[in-house]
Amino acid sequence: MTVTAAPELDVEQLRKDFPILSQRIRGKPLVYLDNAATSQKPRSVIDAVGRFYATENANIHRGVHFLSERATLAYEAVRAGVARFLNASSSDEIVFTSGTTEAVNLVAQSWGRSAVRAGDELLVTAMEHHSNLVPWQLLAAQTGAVVRAVPISDAGELDLDAFDRLLTDRTRLLAIAHVSNALGTVNPVRALVAHARQHGLVTLVDGAQSVPHLAVDVQELNCDFFAFSGHKVYGPTGVGVLYGRAALLERMPPWQGGGDMIEAVTLEASTFAPPPARFEAGTPKIAQVIGLGAALDYVAAVGLAPIGAREDELLAYATDRVSGLDGIRLVGTARHKAAVLSFVVEGVHPHDVAAVLDDEGVAVRAGHHCAQPVMSRFGVPATVRASFAFYNTPEEIDVLIRGLGRVRTLFA
Ligand code: PMP
Repeated sequence: MTVTAAPELDVEQLRKDFPILSQRIRGKPLVYLDNAATSQKPRSVIDAVGRFYATENANIHRGVHFLSERATLAYEAVRAGVARFLNASSSDEIVFTSGTTEAVNLVAQSWGRSAVRAGDELLVTAMEHHSNLVPWQLLAAQTGAVVRAVPISDAGELDLDAFDRLLTDRTRLLAIAHVSNALGTVNPVRALVAHARQHGLVTLVDGAQSVPHLAVDVQELNCDFFAFSGHKVYGPTGVGVLYGRAALLERMPPWQGGGDMIEAVTLEASTFAPPPARFEAGTPKIAQVIGLGAALDYVAAVGLAPIGAREDELLAYATDRVSGLDGIRLVGTARHKAAVLSFVVEGVHPHDVAAVLDDEGVAVRAGHHCAQPVMSRFGVPATVRASFAFYNTPEEIDVLIRGLGRVRTLFA
């Protein structure tokens, strides 16, 4: 064992905040290494959602009764909390969505359909999650625009020369993952966004995999849009955030119509509320937003710096141990990575690897990770992905390694 917990975190104590972690799976202690798919929830989040339904539940914004006012205040307080968490300049720049996927689709359909023309180019990267690729392909099909992708190196890093070459006077958008879910690569988004903005591009950063691990400051990144999902940052499913620069959000048309997003409606026509309400049609995800608020409070209390440091140690330890095994190829060896270890075991399908590990109580993901272009780039149909949260331990990684040893024996 070469790794000790970052001194700032009392991991044994913090693990007790997560009821699910003490479960046994198939008679073995749960080793949860599927955090990039969704992270586990601390008691404070579970309780906040339960408490909301037990004591505060009401629809928000238009109610004049006590509960509705209280629920409205609680919901709007989370918006302010998210703005602080991302260092947005105003809570009006925070739109609640159902997740990263919906946030990207919102931008594609609202900004994109009003601003993108036939022949325009939309720049993504070859390591995007389908959520930050398919919405742009749909927009391209609707407008006659073209999607271009920055290629990636064998290590899983962006080809920055190609990035430069791909910026033309027709490029309108850069949409880029902060951290790749399939490779773990941390992209130099600040520099790329700055470069893109010099060319007049609108920029969107997919922060689904960065927000759980790195402190994000949208003013420092200087991006126009930033999206993340609550469930990957210890919050509930069904809620996410779109940060949008006020000057852009104000000019964007609604993308969905319904209650709450209007100013005035007649049978003939409607006018629309200012952002963020303009983009939150219908009854919002009230309980989920409350849960997200509790999750961000939890993360702030633990501290993103010690969380990131702890996860870096776990990743380094796991990378070292997995690389020492015969017949294993790492997919994604970028210099700057966060919390994701993707690999293939020679001659064994990733699903078989995951099934053997599952028998040992180890939860990993096997598949294309909604990043099929990444799989094609590396010539594999799928990978096994172990992804870490601060509550994981080196001992759990040892269990993973023993499980991989068992895979080798079973499939030798
Ligand atoms: N982008 C990245 C990089 C992701 O990892 C994910 C989730 N795997 C998404 C987008 C989509 O997030 P969601 O499914 O929560 O909308």
